[in-house]
Amino acid sequence: VTTFAGKTVAVFGLGGSGLATCHALIAGGANVIAFDDDARKVAEAKAANVGTADLRSIDWSKIAALILTPGVPLTHPEPHWSAKLATAANVEIIGDVELFCRERRVHAPDAPFVAITGTNGKSTTTALIAHILREAGRDVQMGGNIGVPVLQLEPPTNARHYVIECSSYQIDLAPSIDPTVGIMLNVTPDHIDRHGTIENYAAVKSRILGRAKTRIVGVDDEFGRGMMKGLAAMQKFVVPISIKQIVPHGYVGGEKNIYRTGASEAEDIADLTGIGSLRGSHNMQNAVAAFAACSALGVDDKTIQAALRTFPGLAHRMEEIGKKGAVLFINDSKATNADSAAKALASFENIYWIAGGKQKEGGIESLTEFFPRIAKAYLIGEAAPDFAATLNGHVPYDMSGTLDAAVAQAARDAASGGKGAVVLLSPACASFDQFRNFEIRGEHFRTLVQGLL
Ligand code: ADP
Repeated sequence: VTTFAGKTVAVFGLGGSGLATCHALIAGGANVIAFDDDARKVAEAKAANVGTADLRSIDWSKIAALILTPGVPLTHPEPHWSAKLATAANVEIIGDVELFCRERRVHAPDAPFVAITGTNGKSTTTALIAHILREAGRDVQMGGNIGVPVLQLEPPTNARHYVIECSSYQIDLAPSIDPTVGIMLNVTPDHIDRHGTIENYAAVKSRILGRAKTRIVGVDDEFGRGMMKGLAAMQKFVVPISIKQIVPHGYVGGEKNIYRTGASEAEDIADLTGIGSLRGSHNMQNAVAAFAACSALGVDDKTIQAALRTFPGLAHRMEEIGKKGAVLFINDSKATNADSAAKALASFENIYWIAGGKQKEGGIESLTEFFPRIAKAYLIGEAAPDFAATLNGHVPYDMSGTLDAAVAQAARDAASGGKGAVVLLSPACASFDQFRNFEIRGEHFRTLVQGLL
């Protein structure tokens, strides 16, 4: 990125996106001073020929900007020390998405740019939009919070489409974000620690819409509805999406179908029946958003309909691993809390449920309405005793302990479990007690299941 050519820029945070930022800035002619609280990361950066120095001992009057990695607190509960130093020296603080936006404005202002945010469904919607655009023959770069850091993608040209997942942290650090299509899927209390209050969090997320050409807003929660009203008051109109009610001049998801609405009429534009990768009403919201976005970018309805059918889905999110006899095996390792597990439990019946791991607050108390769908539970990890106490008297369970034992027993039981039996890994827990992360937990599940098929 050439925005800071010839200038000196401080970078704090040297994870994947931080390092990619350093390399992009250096390639664009900036002088980079990078740092991290973790000495190992500083050493790694040095080894990759990135200039490093303790940002506490530099002359901030020479610094043009502080590029902060999205994981680092900008305001809440209090600013990170590097942000305090930058503020004291009147140095602007931005993130990698902002750098991307500035680069695009200068070098490829017509490059279609879709930015997606929301509390849930960001990755699925991002991947689905990228898939549809590719199927439509477009040149697509996908990244941001999902997969490849935005500054590691191929550089912008006017024909290249960018489909970028943005966390609220990234938006917080992207004051001039100006997508062709901005999408705000939903807002529920999450990450409030970083943004203080939910109003504040919603305000940050709404920034993705302010300068967007097309603004797609999920209006099924009060915050989305508030954003729509607020923008309309400024003569900025949105394309509302809903899976709960008919909204005019927008896109609506029903039980199985997607509708495009006018003032009072609704046109049936897609049928999701039988699309395994888009199971569940939450995925209906994602599909509706993707339809609206691709339509705004000029993709015709037929192409979108066909592409919805070939969407492979994302790994670890209600991912179909395979079938043995009549038994379906589903990997939902990404469900690290009860809310996410609820989505999976609501999507199946006759469930042989593998759950547990590193316990989250509240346990599975909130899942009782789904207990009738569970044939039996297989409990693993630290949370097992607590989950057992909640299930006791409602759902039969095994104290399986490990994922290996759970898969083996669940597969045996489900084989004689009758019609539509599903072995579902949807742990409602983090993985850290037994696995490094949810991906590795999901991969292990996949390996175990493939051994059975
Ligand atoms: P994110 O990238 O925002 O974390 P993902 O697309 O990775 O979201 O989905 C993660 C989990 O969130 C899914 O497994 C599902 O349980 C839930 N989810 C997905 N889409 C939605 C949605 N539109 N509304 C509510 N929950 C959702």
